[in-house]
Amino acid sequence: MIVGIDLGTTHSLVACLKETGPELIPNSLGEYLTPSVVGLDNAGELLVGRTAQEFMVTAPERCVSMFKRQMGTEWKWTIDNKAFTAVELSALVLKTLKEEAEQYLGESVESAVITVPAYFNEHQRTDTIRAGEIAGLKVARIVNEPTAAALAYGLREQDQERLLLVYDLGGGTFDVSIVDQLDDVLEIRSSAGETFLGGEDFTSTIAARVLESKGMVYEHVEMKEPERLSRLRRECERLKRQLSSRDVASLRFPDARGHFLDDAETIEVNREQFKKWTSHLIGRADLPLRKALGDAGLKRSEVDEVILVGGATRMPTIVERIVEIFGKEPLRRINPDEVVALGAAVQAGLIDRNEHVEEMVVTDVAPFTLGVETTREMAGEYRSGYFMPIINRNTTIPVSRAQTVQTLHPNQTEVKVAIYQGEHRKTDQNLFLGEFQVKNIPRGPAGQEIEIRFTYDLNGVLEVEAMVLETKEKFQHVVTRYARGMSQRQIDDAIRSMENLKKHPREESANRYLLKRSERLYSELPWGEREQLDLMLKGFEEAIELQDEELIARHREALENFVNLFDFSEEDDNDPQSEQTDDW
Ligand code: ADP
Ligand code: MG
Repeated sequence: MIVGIDLGTTHSLVACLKETGPELIPNSLGEYLTPSVVGLDNAGELLVGRTAQEFMVTAPERCVSMFKRQMGTEWKWTIDNKAFTAVELSALVLKTLKEEAEQYLGESVESAVITVPAYFNEHQRTDTIRAGEIAGLKVARIVNEPTAAALAYGLREQDQERLLLVYDLGGGTFDVSIVDQLDDVLEIRSSAGETFLGGEDFTSTIAARVLESKGMVYEHVEMKEPERLSRLRRECERLKRQLSSRDVASLRFPDARGHFLDDAETIEVNREQFKKWTSHLIGRADLPLRKALGDAGLKRSEVDEVILVGGATRMPTIVERIVEIFGKEPLRRINPDEVVALGAAVQAGLIDRNEHVEEMVVTDVAPFTLGVETTREMAGEYRSGYFMPIINRNTTIPVSRAQTVQTLHPNQTEVKVAIYQGEHRKTDQNLFLGEFQVKNIPRGPAGQEIEIRFTYDLNGVLEVEAMVLETKEKFQHVVTRYARGMSQRQIDDAIRSMENLKKHPREESANRYLLKRSERLYSELPWGEREQLDLMLKGFEEAIELQDEELIARHREALENFVNLFDFSEEDDNDPQSEQTDDW
């Protein structure tokens, strides 16, 4: 079985294709959205998802989130003398989703389509594949998130001829794609985006402004009082979501240890204020829009429909801006948190040649320019480090293009071909992908010609071939996503060290989650209720200790009722998932 996985900055989802269409797979807590959060509790046991998210509020130093932003870098998260790369943390999330899917479907899941922001570069894509492999998944295809969203809409709304703009604002990334739909053929015309713009930046901005009003600086608080910051961020997140459906909302300001004492101050924020605070972020979203339209050679008036993707598009300020730009209300017929995973499942069906999606065709584009380094002669001097594009960004893939270069010196017998990706004139600002040497060039005057051909396939494998035109001798280099960085042995080692992490049995995950959630709630309650909660927690813990199922169930129910009553942070959350409604 091939599943589709949306490996998000803040949330991840898994889906599969059924006869009736793509369907999301719930996790062991019965939810579709699994927070992309990893933690190690004090006993060194691994927590992933909601449980880790709850634990992060009380123990921010033992948890990590937003690691998708570190894909393609050497960044590491260290805890208890163990270091985790972004690839390994992503692998832990993927492995959890794989296991949840296997449990739910009752069959083994060997392979997955994983989505990435259209604007991910080669290193970030390679890292995503590697994370899949470490999680024990064969990565059948890496698909751009907006492309997946277009597939989900395309399958549901065939028989349409229209130009779609996919506007995807998630937790940490912003992506725009322009898609031509002709019945069941989807052609991606262009993509643009920003890997450092998302809903989390709106949350951070609220937190920074609130702290500022107290004479505090975000970065200092983050370093010196991490508990205060993590609790405040949680409050800001709740406030932000509330402001999506009402004009005024309030948050409680935690003390230095992250507690809300009985006299904790309440701060009110209204929509107008929020809009002003975050206008710089809205402005940053305009540039990729312009770039995507420009690359597709389109005017904004030519866009027929704007599709909303990503939880952060629920903010009214985003919708207002879209209406301002395009003069029409955007579409949200499919839940914006879920549409990417559903589309990934459609893509999985296409690869599996599933009869229910057979007629659909989708073509994608290369998100960045690919080329080689050249040397230029300037005022009698040779300067190297210039980028010569061969495949331009937003060219439809698969594609094969060639360019001819020449030797610079008489009797030059070798030329180095260095391959880069990016939009800068100088190679040192672009991403290096690999290099190889062309030899045996016949001696003679300068200007011997070498043809360099780039072939970029659907799986993102780039094959570079250089041919000495006079002798027809060929030299080859393949930039596969599988070649960079880790060897098979290193992958095996990573798999083994992940298996060595202590983990709760899956059946216990609901109990673990309730425990962490109650512990988080504890410090938010007034003294009287705290004592009550403490007693109930003790009863629940004892029941778990005794492994008495009946006793556990009884205590769990009482504790759950109590927590639901006092934990108002869950109110105003987004609608029940997966109701594919036209309005939310
Ligand atoms: P990703 O794909 O990057 O994980 P998601 O699509 O899950 O992101 O979107 C997560 C972001 O959406 C978070 O920053 C979250 O705060 C934001 N978000 C979710 N619901 C709302 C809402 N009702 N109002 C405002 N922002 C929201
Ligand atoms: Mg997303």
